[in-house]
Amino acid sequence: MLYRLKNDFRLSIITLLGVSAVFGVTPFAILRFIQGNSVAFVVDLLILAGVAVSVNHAWQTGDTRRAGLLMACVASYGAVLVGVLVGDPGLFWLYPCLVTTFFLTHPRMALAINVSAVLLMMLVSDAFRSHEQMWSFAVAAAVVTASAHVFAYRNRSQRRRLEHLATIDPLTGVKNRRSMDYELDMAVATAERTGKPQTLVLLDIDHFKKINDQYGHVLGDDILVDLVTLIDSHTRKYDQLFRFGGEEFVLLLPDVGGEDLDTVMTELQRLLRRRLKCPDGAVTISYGVATLQPGESMESWLTRADDALYQAKEGGRDRIVYADGPPIAAMPASA
Ligand code: GH3
Ligand code: MG
Ligand code: MG
Repeated sequence: MLYRLKNDFRLSIITLLGVSAVFGVTPFAILRFIQGNSVAFVVDLLILAGVAVSVNHAWQTGDTRRAGLLMACVASYGAVLVGVLVGDPGLFWLYPCLVTTFFLTHPRMALAINVSAVLLMMLVSDAFRSHEQMWSFAVAAAVVTASAHVFAYRNRSQRRRLEHLATIDPLTGVKNRRSMDYELDMAVATAERTGKPQTLVLLDIDHFKKINDQYGHVLGDDILVDLVTLIDSHTRKYDQLFRFGGEEFVLLLPDVGGEDLDTVMTELQRLLRRRLKCPDGAVTISYGVATLQPGESMESWLTRADDALYQAKEGGRDRIVYADGPPIAAMPASA
């Protein structure tokens, strides 16, 4: 529970506002009841019910998008209703709502809710004592909304940038190991659901240290980028390439197994042998290939591919080794 609160920003905001609403609105609901203002009492109860439904929906389903939108609507239009029924207290409730809508829902939707709630308050409520007060409120609401919008926009773009930095390898532009763990987990789940094959290829450049020593790190970097460009341009759009670390990459091939796999791997090897070069000749690669077995875990799948790669290195490099036995015999370099 604490983990979800820490890692899901919108869920934590929904929960915080939900708890605040219960503590903030309940005393007023009791007061309206004691005063005999049954309509305002029912409105307070409806606001509390709406907030409770949002919090419950967010926790039960993880769908914080809808839960946040519901809570933003309940709070903002609830404040307008309070303005209609009991006057200026509605204004004070609406102010915090103008800011929190931007944390609860998409900025464009929050803007629409704010503008409509403020207009409704101006047109139908009894909250204002004079026109001057009403227009002061409108200007203040516009300033609050604009500031919250700018803040939310910057917050979103910074969060996206951070996500990019955390998941993409800066040299080659492919996803890094952190994203790979997630995607492999998804591939295991998809295979369990659909029964379709999922194949993982571990690729490691042979004697890359020597290449670096001989031609320098910059050329080494260029070779890594060339490798990614070549693989990217010759695989399908739903194949995924990850930088596993250093000069080692993982290629995830959904819906590929058996004889198809042999064709895909042979073509990939042929392409890279022909096109991946360093100044005095070809750069060679060793491949460890494993197709996910029924009921297998991600860790075991990756370990089998890694063992196959190790065998490829031990066997003399520049070759493909299939963990599950070759669809046809694995080809040595001279083949
Ligand atoms: P093997 O055939 O057994 O794989 O030998 P290797 O030399 O390729 O493997 P080793 O693990 O000994 O060396 C890997 C080298 O990769 C060492 C390191 O300097 C280089 N390397 C790792 N990351 C980068 C990088 O981002 N850029 C460059 N240019 N080199 C890198
Ligand atoms: Mg290597
Ligand atoms: Mg290596």
